[in-house]
Amino acid sequence: MISLKNIIKIYKIKKGKHVVALNKVSIDLPDKGMVFVLGKSGSGKSTLLNILGGLDRAEKGELIVNGKSDRDFKQIDYDTYRSTYVGFVFQEYNLLRDYTVGQNVAMALELSGKKPTADTIEKILAEVDLSGYFDRKTDELSGGQKQRVAIARALVKSPQIILADEPTGALDSVTGAAILETLKKLSKKCLVVVVSHELDYAATYADRIIELSDGKIVSDLSKQDSGSEGFQKKDNII
Ligand code: ADP
Ligand code: MG
Repeated sequence: MISLKNIIKIYKIKKGKHVVALNKVSIDLPDKGMVFVLGKSGSGKSTLLNILGGLDRAEKGELIVNGKSDRDFKQIDYDTYRSTYVGFVFQEYNLLRDYTVGQNVAMALELSGKKPTADTIEKILAEVDLSGYFDRKTDELSGGQKQRVAIARALVKSPQIILADEPTGALDSVTGAAILETLKKLSKKCLVVVVSHELDYAATYADRIIELSDGKIVSDLSKQDSGSEGFQKKDNII
């Protein structure tokens, strides 16, 4: 389980001015499921995701991973956390161009110290519905297929958390929905946190929706256990 406790993140901008990107944010996230973080541009979504993933550090507050607070983390603990625990997916795909799909996954495997066998790569490609794309150049893929390769690269670590920052931001709505279907499938086995500003997607795919405004959580809703009829406020029904 992963939690944030009273996170305050301040960015210094020029002339002594600063922006409070996150203002006392606390959340407990489950081990599985699909959590959406919604909010307008500038509300702190990416900052929240980066702190959850150990890519950035807060001025105040704690990141707690399986009961261990990052107050007790050394630099190597952050590195280990990022490289073994968390898979990142971004809007821009971040693939190695001029390489094939298989080579992209192979390099991600090597980076995480695993052996890039054809069998392992095929299995990972199958998880993102890219079976048979091993030898395709990434330049020749559609946006949706590129995003699938990016998810495949994130999966090589067998991450416990997938953090996806606007993964559908560059895609049309049908392709975006297909990517969310894939992430939803993966969320049966690990936690998937998706940053988005599209309420429609969240209403369809989320198990929980956290809304940020000006660096604060303004609502936190969970899907009712009984099915898909709606969301209820965490702890008390609306
Ligand atoms: P979102 O992802 O919801 O659009 P961000 O988390 O990127 O929002 O940004 C939250 C706030 O922090 C915004 O006001 C933004 O301008 C500011 N911010 C984000 N990153 C930086 C940075 N590296 N330096 C200065 N300000 C930043
Ligand atoms: Mg952002």
